Amino acid sequence: MSQDIQSILKRLKVDADNKGAAVGNKWLNTSGEKLASYSPVDGKVIANVTLADGKAYDEVIAEAQEAFKEWRQLPAPQRGEIVRQLGNELREYKQELGSLVSYEMGKSLQEGLGEVQEMIDICDFAVGLSRQLYGLTMHSERPSHRMYEQWHPLGIVGIISAFNFPVAVWSWNAALAWVCGDVCVWKPSEKAPISAIACQKIAERVFEKNGIHPGVCGLVIGDAEIGKKLAADTRVPLISATGSTRMGKKVGEVVGARLGKHILELGGNNAMIISEHADLNIVVPGAVFGAVGTAGQRCTSTRRLIIHESQYEEVKERLVKAYGQLRIGDPLDENNHVGPLIDTDAVKMYQAAIEKVKAEGGKTVIDGEVLTGAGYESGCYVKPAIFEAKADYEIVCNETFAPILYLIKYSTIEEAIEIQNAVPQGLSSAIMTTNIRESELFLSHAGSDCGIANVNIGTSGAEIGGAFGGEKETGGGRESGSDAWKAYMRRQTNTINYSTELPLAQGIKFEL
Ligand code: NAD
Repeated sequence: MSQDIQSILKRLKVDADNKGAAVGNKWLNTSGEKLASYSPVDGKVIANVTLADGKAYDEVIAEAQEAFKEWRQLPAPQRGEIVRQLGNELREYKQELGSLVSYEMGKSLQEGLGEVQEMIDICDFAVGLSRQLYGLTMHSERPSHRMYEQWHPLGIVGIISAFNFPVAVWSWNAALAWVCGDVCVWKPSEKAPISAIACQKIAERVFEKNGIHPGVCGLVIGDAEIGKKLAADTRVPLISATGSTRMGKKVGEVVGARLGKHILELGGNNAMIISEHADLNIVVPGAVFGAVGTAGQRCTSTRRLIIHESQYEEVKERLVKAYGQLRIGDPLDENNHVGPLIDTDAVKMYQAAIEKVKAEGGKTVIDGEVLTGAGYESGCYVKPAIFEAKADYEIVCNETFAPILYLIKYSTIEEAIEIQNAVPQGLSSAIMTTNIRESELFLSHAGSDCGIANVNIGTSGAEIGGAFGGEKETGGGRESGSDAWKAYMRRQTNTINYSTELPLAQGIKFEL
């Protein structure tokens, strides 16, 4: 890959040493720490970034404030036209950007390309949306009055993103925010900064070509400290933060204290209920992909299988067989199913979780192991593991961002739903059943308490057309499709009197 990566970086216009702050195509001098981005695939350095400092941060925000004054005046369909061009530019660089994402984050090439496809799809969605930022009209209770609502842009949207979807999360937010008339400042994960630089290089050309103020598209690369600055900044009316629940609680508190708006997209602890009426031929591939895809590092990864007692042994047997066929290795090699974890800290968390489930009484079905030897030099490759567990183990109620799957037995569908809901997180959920009563109960208000509830497909992944996000400790935010755009705008209710009288609402009389 090291040969290929050089030509990929060149085509993406990423240098060996990069500046960590940009306003459109203007890259700012910073005096921050120099960070090397290592690939978990082979442990090699991809490129370096000098992190944004406070001065560069302030410049990005000041330019964004200026840019907003111009950008909000451009009619929404014209803003959509710019986003359409961004989608086309992403089509042009899909192969390179997808490969870089795969190499820097460690997900399979197919998933890296899929992530860029998601960016293209959200751009297409946003283009259509730019003509559909609808408000409602209402009938006024007063004669010769008209009432309606309209949606206005907010200003600067601060985007804080996680390492596991290093580019798509930016686009879910930015494409929508831009058509809504907002400007964006992105604080990507410090674990995948090179992919972010590549995105900025792609986007900057589109804005430049159209003569758009560069401050519309800002980038500040840094660790949590820059994230904290963004969260606390009263010049930034909306913070969209994707990452761990730990981070979300802090960001929520800081943004809440200044009564700013936030969209929080946090951790999941996703379960699949496998009913006595399940079609096991679709259960096993769905469960295995959900648990081991992206090495268990998706917010929607399947972490718990809640299995009916009558199917339990058979499901377990089939899983063991399927896991036996998994090939673990270089994610850019299409023959492999499982790539590395993001870094060696993540490996330690995987090991600690395995120790903990055993200490709590969990029974090993497939034990974990850190792989060593040829092809595993980065130290980030681990074996996907399976444990039989009780629903209330502390470790089972926590999200471990690694390929560890817990098997839990149930006897009634009501019990299965109770187990599924008995964790602090509420992102994705699934039931595998051919019984309509069970599936309808699962989807009813007495069913799954998650933001995503699927029938006969796994928990992992989602289409951009639906609103994406979850409840409880997942943060409650929604991004992407449906009417998620409303979070990027402010609603204004307007009442217009075209009569010669001044009647008051609720029939109140006030005579002078
Ligand atoms: P993380 O919380 O460690 O970091 C996420 C981002 O937050 C990074 O950019 C980081 O620098 C920043 N950050 C950390 N502390 C901060 C603070 N106090 N103030 C401001 N910014 C701060 O998460 P991660 O390890 O990069 O990603 C994995 C987590 O993200 C998992 O929990 C996963 O479930 C979650 N995730 C959720 C979704 C979703 O849509 N619900 C999507 C992807 C990932």
